[in-house]
Amino acid sequence: MQLLDGKKTAASIKDEIKQTVDAIKLQKKRVPHLAAILVGDSTASKTYINNKIKSCKEVGFKSTLLHLEKDITENELIAQINNLNNDNSIDGFIVQLPLPKHINEERVLLSITPEKDVDGFHPINLGKMMIGLPAFISATPKGIVEILKRYNIQTSGKHCVVVGRSNIVGTPISILLGKKSEAGNATVTLCHSHTKDLKTYTLQADIIIAATGKPNLITADMVKDGVVIIDVGINRIDDNSERGYHLVGDVDFKNVSKKSSYITPVPGGVGLMTVASLLQNTLAAYQAAYYPKDFIEENLL
Ligand code: NAD
Repeated sequence: MQLLDGKKTAASIKDEIKQTVDAIKLQKKRVPHLAAILVGDSTASKTYINNKIKSCKEVGFKSTLLHLEKDITENELIAQINNLNNDNSIDGFIVQLPLPKHINEERVLLSITPEKDVDGFHPINLGKMMIGLPAFISATPKGIVEILKRYNIQTSGKHCVVVGRSNIVGTPISILLGKKSEAGNATVTLCHSHTKDLKTYTLQADIIIAATGKPNLITADMVKDGVVIIDVGINRIDDNSERGYHLVGDVDFKNVSKKSSYITPVPGGVGLMTVASLLQNTLAAYQAAYYPKDFIEENLL
């Protein structure tokens, strides 16, 4: 079994980005600028946002955090988004999900201009990705494709079973893997909570992408020898540690790793790749402002 090391892979991507930013600084140009909107005080969301802001600093990006009250109205939030849409000093921005229940997430995501939608959640970006036009690919699926590429894991002709069909992970990664492209050409099965006898499908998989939020859903008896495992799940399990919890994925790592050829750990796997992809998207958004059309075509997936 070989570990798919998200920490190491994300670090080399960040290094590449930093070199580009250093070159930008030498030319005395402004550096890429990512803004992030956080609504409310969820500790998990704060951790995710802080990691993103910290990573911006590491690569030399400018970052701005807008921390808004949890009882902000939907219209007030959209007004803040419009400010960012119209602010030429900001290349891309994200709205950390989930949002409080009184806010319609779809309406909020639709209000982000697609050119600054570095999370790739806007239907314009999702639609362009579907038909193979240059687009911002959602950070987690992009990170999964990138880690597979960097470990030379072939997807062509393989059977990939994706478990979970969210708009931000399961559905887009199932499309990317099935596309006629370098990191695609797989035969994809998309499973979800209505799938009967999940094990029938996972046992046939050469590659399993688990994105359900169900701790230890994928167990050793559900996978074949030599399987490649990408564990997207991030689940908090309460314990007696100082922090009060530890993180596990959707896969029973201890036992499944014994049968797998490659596996991502949790933590230290897909989560870090997600942040690295967000930085790549932000850099592409910045560069698109300087080299519009052909640059986008060459640099977005
Ligand atoms: P979600 O919570 O929106 O949806 C879960 C999906 O899993 C649904 O499509 C559902 O049909 C499916 N599902 C639930 N139970 C199932 C079962 N028993 N069998 C088969 N399918 C089942 O999904 P999400 O937002 O993609 O998040 C999934 C997990 O990934 C969560 O743990 C989340 O924290 C994590 N996540 C991690 C990253 C990262 O960067 N690593 C990014 C996004 C989400």
